[in-house]
Amino acid sequence: MNTPLLYLGEEDGNRIFVKREDLYPLSLGGNKARIAEAWFREIDAGDWSCVVTCGGVGSNLCRVTANLAAARGMGCLLLMHTGRQRDSLNRRLASLSGARILYCPPERLGQTIEDRLAELRDAGERPFFIPGGGRGVPGFQAYAECYREIRADEQSAAVAFDYLFVPSGTGTTQAGLVCGRLRAEDPCRIVGVSVARSRKRGRPVILDNVRQYFARENLPLSEADLENAVVFEDAWTGGGYGLGDYSDTLREVWNRYGLPLDNTYTGKAFYGMRQYLKEHAIRGKTVLFINTGGLPLLFDDLLLREQHEGGERA
Ligand SMILES: *Cc1c(COP(=O)(O)O)cnc(C)c1O
Repeated sequence: MNTPLLYLGEEDGNRIFVKREDLYPLSLGGNKARIAEAWFREIDAGDWSCVVTCGGVGSNLCRVTANLAAARGMGCLLLMHTGRQRDSLNRRLASLSGARILYCPPERLGQTIEDRLAELRDAGERPFFIPGGGRGVPGFQAYAECYREIRADEQSAAVAFDYLFVPSGTGTTQAGLVCGRLRAEDPCRIVGVSVARSRKRGRPVILDNVRQYFARENLPLSEADLENAVVFEDAWTGGGYGLGDYSDTLREVWNRYGLPLDNTYTGKAFYGMRQYLKEHAIRGKTVLFINTGGLPLLFDDLLLREQHEGGERA
């Protein structure tokens, strides 16, 4: 399904566009809606009785997976690793979809997944497991497909993007976009703005994801082209996942453009994009920001902050 391309305006001599993946028309949108939908195409083609996935307490993927499982009358088990966050609107939406939620500390997640899958199989279920972040070939395919959509957007808007910025967590979304760009042999530069991982850890994962996709599609891939196509910037992670305060960017972008961003992914990446353009003295270019969505996360941010700021007493 297509999402809108919008022109935001000019910033420091660059023309900034945004791809509204946050408006992806399913389950409150975001990149996880596009990615989960691709995974469910695989699930629908098989004989599975329930779906299992994992993520943090605020996971967008968990919310969408619970929703799509409920739509099919399938059971859904979510394994949430506990950290700083105790509750979230995504978790509540997953409950609304009737998902069963189990919590465990992050270091026990891998073992817990194996144990629970084995338990389900012993009970006669046929569980399908979606890896955290929706990483895997269907996830890459979803964003290779989105890249094709972006090319069509370019034609209808009569523009050509020099740069494309995307928040990068597990790198699934970025890997998919890079696959699309390599297939199209476009010159557009894709910059992943890391929201957590160091370049040393995050970039090889993306390289590997792209190789996996090309192998699965039986397409040739030159290592030099691949190396050249993966830019993963870790200068603006704010110290780690969920850390850093991007409320100034959130407020300013909301008020100037009416564009919602969240503090975990899109606010951080929008901030990083501006820094990148500044530090590399980039001017006169056409730039696309992928708003990967996560409206529930913005509302989490606002509700949490409300508790601190409160209102004025009358
Ligand atoms: C998961 C997520 C990302 C990061 O996507 P990856 O494919 O894991 O890199 C970015 N933005 C939002 C809103 C997300 O939920």
